[in-house]
Amino acid sequence: MAVDNEEAETRAAILEVVRRTWGYDSLRPLQEEAVRAGLEGRDSVVVLPTGGGKSLCYQVPPVLAGRTDIVVSPLISLMKDQVDGLLANGYPAAALHSAQTAAERADAERFIASGDCHLVFVSPERLVTSWFLQTVENLGINTFSVDEAHCISQWGHDFRPEYRQLAVLKQRVPGATIHAFTATATERVREDIVEQLGLEDPTMLVGRFDRPNLIYRLIPRLDTNDQVSEVLSRHQGEAAIIYCISRKDTEKLAEKLAADGHRAACYHAGLESGERHRTQEAFSTEQLDIVVATVAFGMGIDRSDVRCIIHAAMPKSVEHYQQETGRAGRDGLSAECVLLHSPADALKWRTVLERGAAESGENGEGLEGSLRLLDGMRRYCSPGRCRHRVLSEYFGQTYEPPRRGDPATDGAVSAPGAATNPQDPDGCGACDVCLGETEGLVDGIRDAQMILSCVARVEQRYGMGHVVDVLRGADTERIRSLRHDELSTWGLMKDRDRKEVMNLTFQLLDQDLLARSEGEYPVLCLNQASVEVMRGERRVQLVPIRVKRARTTAREAASWEGVDRALFDSLRELRTELARRRDVPPYVIFSDASLRDMARKRPATSEEFLDVHGVGDKKLADFGDAFLARIRDHVGSAAAAGLDDPGGPGDPPPDLFETG
Ligand code: ADP
Ligand code: ZN
Repeated sequence: MAVDNEEAETRAAILEVVRRTWGYDSLRPLQEEAVRAGLEGRDSVVVLPTGGGKSLCYQVPPVLAGRTDIVVSPLISLMKDQVDGLLANGYPAAALHSAQTAAERADAERFIASGDCHLVFVSPERLVTSWFLQTVENLGINTFSVDEAHCISQWGHDFRPEYRQLAVLKQRVPGATIHAFTATATERVREDIVEQLGLEDPTMLVGRFDRPNLIYRLIPRLDTNDQVSEVLSRHQGEAAIIYCISRKDTEKLAEKLAADGHRAACYHAGLESGERHRTQEAFSTEQLDIVVATVAFGMGIDRSDVRCIIHAAMPKSVEHYQQETGRAGRDGLSAECVLLHSPADALKWRTVLERGAAESGENGEGLEGSLRLLDGMRRYCSPGRCRHRVLSEYFGQTYEPPRRGDPATDGAVSAPGAATNPQDPDGCGACDVCLGETEGLVDGIRDAQMILSCVARVEQRYGMGHVVDVLRGADTERIRSLRHDELSTWGLMKDRDRKEVMNLTFQLLDQDLLARSEGEYPVLCLNQASVEVMRGERRVQLVPIRVKRARTTAREAASWEGVDRALFDSLRELRTELARRRDVPPYVIFSDASLRDMARKRPATSEEFLDVHGVGDKKLADFGDAFLARIRDHVGSAAAAGLDDPGGPGDPPPDLFETG
């Protein structure tokens, strides 16, 4: 049929552009549909998770249609990175923003006026100036893509008032079509985007929210420094972001990591803007491996090879968690997201939110909303259910575990043999629960009774620190003078770690089996539920806090399968060198996914080089010789050293994680 033919032709044309320009040989879910909307001039809303490949959806149509399109972007750093990346692939693009010199700006304007430029990145404020709208009219531009479109909605988590001005687009540019892109999932935000932008009968393309290449781990927090170090030891020399709640915590932790020899720095809104900028830049250019940050850090970070995200404490909503962990593994390779969790976190947030609401004198509605979000996050942190599943369900999607070899769920360049968890076919194979690292809830009645009776013995007049001291049989001046060493509960838990007893007590508070007075020095006190527990009339389930070692996931192992590690490291050095010479971030030259594929295939000719993931015509022309020479040298020197096979295909994957 004619329609089928046309469809097949369009698909072939799209794939051809994608292969030639970016060196990718297949499309990710919904990319084809989104490109079609762009070609057909039909308004669209495209919701894909971070790393889902939204940019390609607006980059391809202007090439196929031979026109110039506009992309609205919220941050200058994002625009610059995108333009650099596109130019490195030989894709004509430009940006107009306030950080340009007059000369740069004139250059960009000339380029745009020539009509040879396919994409122009611009901020919302600049787009709606009359000068710009006149240019749009002169050039007959009528396709606009709005990136980070949730910024237009005050229901989103990143409202930017300047986005509201985009409402004039449909009125000022006759026949304009608008394509909105976001990673924010909620229905309400989506509807708001449609309404604010005045979209007409838009195609709604909502992707799957699950990120199969992310490994989620929830670990009971006992000692932040030690636990962070342990996680980082699995990611030597790789990019990591650690989120803390307070500025002071970020400073202390960054200092400690730097003292341990990591290339780490802190980042928060209290730092002077020049310093913030330098840190961001150093991270982008791989001079820094680790940033310890408050949530202020992240937007504008386009580094696609972040291998590890650690939350030193629980964030206040699943939306935040999804966004922050979304910065890991954008290149499609495995990455690890660890949440160090204490039941104290939720209590702390509740206090902070209540205090904030009281101080701002706002009505209860805002507070109620934030407490509801907090509750969602608490549910994510409760034990027993697959983290991937809980996250998907939170965003209203049913979870399907990845199947072997499925390109939609199997990442960009999985090597053959990538299996999910062999023990549990329904499990994700990529979270602490499905990997069997965390135990489920256990009967906690005895522990609970010891703690509660101690609260009763000290007559509900002391705080948690003191109660825990008594339970652990501390022999201090204070305890002796209060004669609390004579209580029957003194030393009941003396064989337990202090942090463990604290953690258990927080769990009781969190489950409302124990109460706490208000004020600066809260005192532990009993409630009706406590009494029932003490009488043995009520079940208590607690999270055991023994911590098992993290295991290698099948996926993580597979992403290294056949990769010559020494060659990979050498190619990474070459990439850094070239990046420095060209003054661009290294990922603009090649992603980690490309380098691993190169170190796996070890191409010897230009033709073979084109076969590497992420190599298109332009990159072959620009970098082919340098990388081929490096590979030749490496293979040659390994052969000279008398190795049959210089760690090539067939090598066992490196043991990144301790097993067992
Ligand atoms: P998003 O904006 O949705 O967070 P990006 O557009 O930045 O995601 O894409 C994430 C990464 O995936 C980029 O490195 C991009 O080049 C890559 N990518 C996009 N589409 C494909 C594809 N079809 N095949 C392989 N890699 C892709
Ligand atoms: Zn799971």
